[in-house]
Amino acid sequence: MTTMGMVYLVGAGPGDPELITIKGLKAIQRADVVIYDRLAPASLLDEAPAHAERINAGKAQHDHTLKQSEINALLVEKAQQGLIVVRLKGGDPFVFGRGGEEALFCAAAGVPFSVIPGISSAIAVPAYAGIPLTHRDLASAFTVFTGHEHPDKPESQIDYPAMAAAARAGTLVILMGATYIEKIVERLIEFGIDPQRPAACIEWGTTDKQRLVVTTLADLPTQAKAANLFSPALTIIGDVVTLRDQGLNWF
Ligand code: SAH
Repeated sequence: MTTMGMVYLVGAGPGDPELITIKGLKAIQRADVVIYDRLAPASLLDEAPAHAERINAGKAQHDHTLKQSEINALLVEKAQQGLIVVRLKGGDPFVFGRGGEEALFCAAAGVPFSVIPGISSAIAVPAYAGIPLTHRDLASAFTVFTGHEHPDKPESQIDYPAMAAAARAGTLVILMGATYIEKIVERLIEFGIDPQRPAACIEWGTTDKQRLVVTTLADLPTQAKAANLFSPALTIIGDVVTLRDQGLNWF
């Protein structure tokens, strides 16, 4: 019987390849297999040993290279072969990354695993755009939610009245919201956010491909569309957005 391997669920950081943790980098350097997502910086794959197998798990929106069930099965299968498996995911593995599902699958199969957190795009992309999520005078909380569901679909899990209420105390960050941005904004205004509230949409943040628009909530959908911003992009709504143009635009 071969000895059992190990699965490392590693956060690759938000895009800038140097924003991975030392622990995450060391795991890649010891990997026999790296199973990576679209948002994990490609240059990190060069850090794996020459013998390491590199498997693209894809996840561009409509082109799932591997289904989630196939990824789960692959993690377990490779670890059972005695291999060190790195599951490399954009940002943090437990922030909208399905890392929880993969870890549960390993646990159920009796495969040992570690989670190596990463810097989530939810905080790093605003930082590179010169937008602090909190500020003593402007925001005492921030709320991160997913916009990947069509807001009109009856079984939508997103509580828009609660999100609009959260915007009163602080900043909203929307991940995966590029497709439905118009509907999302409509909903948030319907539930009470001031249409003139500052807002920004940032594509490929922290990378040399970073592009963004800074505007008001009401104008965000038109402006994001005009600038042709698409996935991966995130949206920030709140007064902290104005700090970018007050000197914080450093990147
Ligand atoms: N686990 C990841 C999030 C995965 S969901 C994390 O912690 O960052 C994918 C979404 O993250 C994208 O649709 C986008 O909203 C956001 N995202 C990831 N990388 C990004 C980047 N470089 N710039 C802007 N948004 C990004």
